[in-house]
Amino acid sequence: MPPVTGIHHVTAICGDVQANLDFYTGVLGLRLVKVAVNFDDPTTYHTYFGDGLGRPGTLITFFPYPDSYKGRAGSGSVIATGYAVPPGSLRWWIDRLAEMAVHFDGPHRRGDEEFVTLRDPDGIDIEIVASPTCPRPEPWTKMPVPAENAIGCIHGVTLCEEASEFTIDFLVDALGFREAEGFAEEQRRFESGVGGSGTLVDVVCRPDAPHGRGGQGSVHHVAFRTPQEESQAHIHADIRARGINVSPVMNRNYFKSIYFREPGGVLFEVATDGPGMTIDETPELLGSSLRLPEQYEPLREKIEAVLPALRRP
Ligand code: ZN
Repeated sequence: MPPVTGIHHVTAICGDVQANLDFYTGVLGLRLVKVAVNFDDPTTYHTYFGDGLGRPGTLITFFPYPDSYKGRAGSGSVIATGYAVPPGSLRWWIDRLAEMAVHFDGPHRRGDEEFVTLRDPDGIDIEIVASPTCPRPEPWTKMPVPAENAIGCIHGVTLCEEASEFTIDFLVDALGFREAEGFAEEQRRFESGVGGSGTLVDVVCRPDAPHGRGGQGSVHHVAFRTPQEESQAHIHADIRARGINVSPVMNRNYFKSIYFREPGGVLFEVATDGPGMTIDETPELLGSSLRLPEQYEPLREKIEAVLPALRRP
């Protein structure tokens, strides 16, 4: 069993919660699978988008901070998040983006994959990648994109590093990644688990890039998957033994998480696959109501009064 088996989710910071929701559901065709609050600040939403069941590997989550300053992608940060779509569907996506007046660039080619780049409303860089290893997403009723063209999972993330040697050693030695062949030296690719879409981390080394900065339009962290709490405990002990600060295991309701920074400064999380998004809502009702962790349930009325109303798709 490799230490991590792929990407679990990406978490980012947005400004306007509604514009963000409209983009990820309306343009990318993901499902709003959970509306929760930031556990550290329950006056702020935490929204989750994914496939029909919000399965690990399909999830992107957001903390909306409408009053925050703008973030900046740069060294020590995730500078692109790729979404896998079925091979042969890129033309369909190009037509869709053009029709919806969403600016995009491409198609570009990297290794054996073709992709287009675009930005979400807060400026987060996104790639739509035609991938032969794109899985079928779990469908749901009122799916806005035909299943044969739908995003199957997060394809991978791109890390920008001031110096990449120790980051690469860490990915390989601590997290069990291996280098994929056929990619340029400027953007090296690593894969975990079974490989392909959902398991990829690209590393670019840009010593003269400005440092990344948190804020609206920045990726806060990338989370990797581990099957159970036992495998997570093993990773936790191993990372500590490497002399790296790692958080205690945190209960995130839908999964258990540990957090640490890789040597280049990007915040990593390792999250368990379960119990998953359906622990507090049935598959049909995912995302339909505000979910609060137990400790905030007595404050529900107050919390609902300060959170802006959402127009769900
Ligand atoms: Zn996370």
